[in-house]
Amino acid sequence: MNMPENQIPKERIEEIISDFPIYEYAWTETDRLPFDGKVREICRSECSMYGTRWHCPPVVGTVAQCRDKIADYPEALVFSTIWEADNENLTEMLGLRKQHEEMTAQIRDRIAEAGCDTAVLSTGCIPCEKCTYPDKPCRNPDTAFPTIESAGIVLPLLVEKTDMELSCGAGLVTYFSIILIRPKRQDPPNHKY
Ligand code: SF4
Repeated sequence: MNMPENQIPKERIEEIISDFPIYEYAWTETDRLPFDGKVREICRSECSMYGTRWHCPPVVGTVAQCRDKIADYPEALVFSTIWEADNENLTEMLGLRKQHEEMTAQIRDRIAEAGCDTAVLSTGCIPCEKCTYPDKPCRNPDTAFPTIESAGIVLPLLVEKTDMELSCGAGLVTYFSIILIRPKRQDPPNHKY
């Protein structure tokens, strides 16, 4: 498909995502993403993954470094999926999150085929039985994505700014991904998010 240089083919991308059972999506310029370093405090104090995985803070870099990397992509496609789920059933929840992550990787690949460079923030990696961190590289570097929060983005604020729904009600779980997009350049992205 021919497209003007330096232009993101949004219509083509919207066709692509219509092939997937997405609940809602929105476009935002990445300089409008709501960052707040306090998110990291929550990661540090409340998440058992902190400092234990390749795609979690602080291994992903400081919030300022994440923000710099994200700024290399002018546009972000934010989307959500919803699933019927028993919040108490952690095995079921992990299985649903895995489906969301697989769908995110497929959408990312289709957007790349449409002529864009991409990077992804999502719900975090589907944990291996034992993470290779810090001794060996990640086993799934192409499909294990850092969380939206790991970059210091305040998800509830982002959802509000983009007129999306954060929660769809009892018995349902909502997952979000952000695909960062820029027109394909000769120089490949200098980082994999
Ligand atoms: S996918 Fe596996 S190896 Fe990679 S960060 Fe997650 S747990 Fe570690």
